[in-house]
Amino acid sequence: MCQIPAGMTRLIQNMKSKLAVMKFGGTSVGDAGCIARAAQICAVAARERQVVAVVSAMSGVTNRLIEAASLSEAGDSTKSSELLAAIRTQHETALGALISDEPARRKLLQRIEGILGEAARLCEGTALLRELTPRTLDLISSVGERLSAPMLAAAISTLGVAGESVDATELIVTDGFYGAAEPLMDLTSQRCEARLRPLLQKGVVPVVTGFIGASQEGALTTLGRGGSDYSATVLSAALMADEAIIWTDVDGVLTADPHLVPEARTIPEISYREAAELAYFGAKVLHPKTLRAVMPYEIPVWIRNSFAPEKPGTKIGAKGASGNGGAKALTAIRDVSLIAVGGPGIVGLTDVVGRTFSTTAKVRANVLLISQSSSQNDICFIVASADAKRTVDALREQFAQDLAHHKVEHISLDPHIAIVAVVGENMRGAVGMAGRTFSALGRESVNIIAIAQGSSETNISFVVEEKDMKRAVVTLHREFGLGVAEVSQVGSVSRR
Ligand code: ADP
Ligand code: ASP
Ligand code: MG
Repeated sequence: MCQIPAGMTRLIQNMKSKLAVMKFGGTSVGDAGCIARAAQICAVAARERQVVAVVSAMSGVTNRLIEAASLSEAGDSTKSSELLAAIRTQHETALGALISDEPARRKLLQRIEGILGEAARLCEGTALLRELTPRTLDLISSVGERLSAPMLAAAISTLGVAGESVDATELIVTDGFYGAAEPLMDLTSQRCEARLRPLLQKGVVPVVTGFIGASQEGALTTLGRGGSDYSATVLSAALMADEAIIWTDVDGVLTADPHLVPEARTIPEISYREAAELAYFGAKVLHPKTLRAVMPYEIPVWIRNSFAPEKPGTKIGAKGASGNGGAKALTAIRDVSLIAVGGPGIVGLTDVVGRTFSTTAKVRANVLLISQSSSQNDICFIVASADAKRTVDALREQFAQDLAHHKVEHISLDPHIAIVAVVGENMRGAVGMAGRTFSALGRESVNIIAIAQGSSETNISFVVEEKDMKRAVVTLHREFGLGVAEVSQVGSVSRR
């Protein structure tokens, strides 16, 4: 029998080994105990396959950093420094409990000091100028991930598996849109191959900072709040991973937010389309862009509980479990505002729809839902509350003449609303879904403000007053029997 050369054996070995990209969210690295648990999950997985870890900032850190940045902009350097000091304490405490080896701990402490020193200088500069540019805000808000990644890498190394932190600015190449940058996949793949593949082949677990990228010019960017989920799938696609596992603080994708509906159940399998729809309408468990990166390659994404790693979680894939064509899950989004452009005079204005939405596009407001009354007296749409003021200002400017001549009578803003969405594959095919939805809400006297225009196959979405949101979700959860356990066809091991 001919001998296979050693190099070839290694190559075959490498080709055989599966690759998992594992993302740990803020609560999953919230303190020393959580980081130790995350490290354990990585180390166990690394025995059987190649692992890339992606890590968020410790919980609460990004919020604090953003607050420190805006306090600096307002000139309040004292409060800003206090926040940075609290972040320092949080990390030092975790480190003290996590790493017992004195030289290793000292080295990490120095690194933490260095990164926090950069943050302090950026805040000082901001306070001096009283100006916070999107670019500086990205630099400041990226600090949490830059602190957590070396800690997780060190914790993995204490378990006998080499962990190495890698800054995503070396890997994820993005456009220059600070605060919501988009990855450029070809360049990102090249960088990941060059930087991560050799580490993986040596059995190292690279621990990559989530949330962050860098423009082609090398300026640090962020992918948007909650964007570490997206970082994980971007890296999965770049490396053609076998699976992405998003470790979080709930058992998977549930039939509703468990904080809203305590009897919500874990869904064993769900399709990309359904999960994307849930994420789009506010299910925080997934950043809305997460599935975009992996859908073309059908890389499965698992949502699993880092506090209960023995549970199978939810598999998100091309098919999802074959459902009954009815409702699968519900979601609601609260931080949104309804904008109405209207009055009887707009009937005669043929271009009002076009002008409205070219204005929203110009200010980069993400329109979540559109509804137009049949008499065309009002065009209503919903944007994130964070985008609402600048959208209304821009519309008032766009329609200034029409407002003066009463062709457009009002451009109004209502922030006290919420969107509720019922999600399920083939909802359009399931007879009577809309009827059931709205009758059930009618029985509970939930007032419907607007219904989404057009019929999506995967959702029925509508607007209610914010105070009715919880009642609407709880009512529909009961109406569609979503609290009843589904028959799980998923085993207890992650598999493609
Ligand atoms: P991480 O810090 O791990 O990124 P997030 O807080 O961003 O975690 O997302 C997890 C949270 O998403 C859960 O604690 C839960 O409250 C919320 N959530 C909202 N809708 C759902 C849903 N349908 N299924 C599971 N979790 C949901
Ligand atoms: N740390 C970032 C945030 O809080 C990114 C993330 O957690 O996904 O938004
Ligand atoms: Mg998240």
